Amino acid sequence: MGEAQVSLKHLFRVFTKPEHKDSKLAQIEQHLSDNILDFLSQHVVTKKTSLEEIEQDFSDAFVPESPEFVSSHAENLLDKLVAHSVNTYSPTFIGHMTSALPYFHLPLAKLLVGLNQNLVKIETSKAFTPLERQVLGMMHNLVYGQEDSWYQQYLHSARHALGAFGSGGTVANITALWVARNKMLGADKGFAGVAKSGLAAAYRHYDINQMGVMCSRRGHYSLSKAVDVLGIGRDNLITLPCPQQTLPPEQALAEGKRYQEEGNKLLALVGIGGTTETGHVDPLDELADVARELGCWFHVDAAWGGATLFSETYRTRLKGIERADSVTIDAHKQMYVPMGAGMVLFKNPEDANSVRHHAQYILRQGSKDLGATTLEGSRNGMAMMVYSSLHIFGRRGYELLIDESIKKARKFADMIEAHPDFELVTAPTLSILTYRVCPPVIQEKLKTADEGEKNQINHKIDVLVVNVQKLQREAGKSFVSRTRLENPDFNSRPITVFRVVMANPLTTEQDLKNILAEQSKIAHARHLWKELEKSESSLTT
Ligand SMILES: *Cc1c(COP(=O)(O)O)cnc(C)c1O
Repeated sequence: MGEAQVSLKHLFRVFTKPEHKDSKLAQIEQHLSDNILDFLSQHVVTKKTSLEEIEQDFSDAFVPESPEFVSSHAENLLDKLVAHSVNTYSPTFIGHMTSALPYFHLPLAKLLVGLNQNLVKIETSKAFTPLERQVLGMMHNLVYGQEDSWYQQYLHSARHALGAFGSGGTVANITALWVARNKMLGADKGFAGVAKSGLAAAYRHYDINQMGVMCSRRGHYSLSKAVDVLGIGRDNLITLPCPQQTLPPEQALAEGKRYQEEGNKLLALVGIGGTTETGHVDPLDELADVARELGCWFHVDAAWGGATLFSETYRTRLKGIERADSVTIDAHKQMYVPMGAGMVLFKNPEDANSVRHHAQYILRQGSKDLGATTLEGSRNGMAMMVYSSLHIFGRRGYELLIDESIKKARKFADMIEAHPDFELVTAPTLSILTYRVCPPVIQEKLKTADEGEKNQINHKIDVLVVNVQKLQREAGKSFVSRTRLENPDFNSRPITVFRVVMANPLTTEQDLKNILAEQSKIAHARHLWKELEKSESSLTT
């Protein structure tokens, strides 16, 4: 490995110029610009499958003494890191929400890093601040659809915020519940408010025994983190069973009432606008009624599903979202923006004031600094990527992408149902579905088996599904994820399923056919498959 000089002259050069015209880094840049798909398929080769083996390359805990040449370091990155990363552009990797990105984000990312703006305050971001406010306004409009004059009043107001931009859905969910908490436990006669006096004083003042947040069992784990950091406690995230994958409103109401009658305070009801595991949408309109009746905050976590609002055809599936007090939407999911772009939107632009923070040297009273109402401090200008995407795709472009994903998911569901070796577990409401492998004879058997037999069989299928998923991943050609779900058709006990997220616009019908064929082949080669087929005869006799 070449050692570079330790000199100010060398370091100055590192700050300002490429090492030489056709350095390794310049080659990488060129290749990325010319053809990113080709770059990834050439360099992301993942020959090492065990993480332990990869860890060997990252086992040294000492800061290197001497500088390295940029070029030799770039080689190093290609070898150790890029080669063993994941090709998220691959059309046959359909297991996660992270997919291929539109090409224009590459040069834009360079511009973003080059400008290195800090959105915490106007002094270090200038036009980026109004841009971010406008992006929040556009997304607010998508959800809440207020009049133009309304936006003119609030978009750039120093005393209001239509939302908060942050690194993702987790920060957005935390921010939403933070605002809700500070509002509910706000200043009162003889009490300065929870933000100032803390939770213990707030509970004493408001005579609160426990305070809770309610959602379905499909609630994202970020909600659990949120109640943890907000001091509410993970035990007070009340997760209700949802055998049909959505939260039944009657049950939410009954449980909420019961909780309140026991002398507890219900802070918020959270509806999910597209669950991470199955893509189901809670009955948001009914849940808005429930929240109103219970007198609590209504938050909708649409981190993944929110982009469905771009589609005239499918936006009705999120009906009621416009009644939420706050809504989380991730741009780095179905809006195809690079990671690090999440938003929470507030129905009422005054609400963010409950978390407003001032500091002497920045975020002064009356300033329009975004950092005054965001959880994060220094932040980059990711809002620019959302801004550009909104313009480059336009609502109708996004609509097309969303509609295509949903159509493709429906198509894949049909293929699964038509294939003898598979059964669909949850059909796609939006563009996520789950299914599993199961020998045809066993599918028949399960229809009539008693509880005990069903459990026995399901346990074996679980093992088979896990094996197939692992082997397929290790073969490296394609990837679906897996999760465990309760399902009424399967005895309400959790079963293991494959999970598919139709995110990548590059995925074709043929890719989907190939994925099923590969899974079927792997499953048939397993002795468990044969055993299951055999066990059928022993069960029927
Ligand atoms: C992805 C997701 C989150 C978390 O978002 P991050 O951007 O990963 O922090 C929260 N809720 C739902 C429903 C999600 O799908």
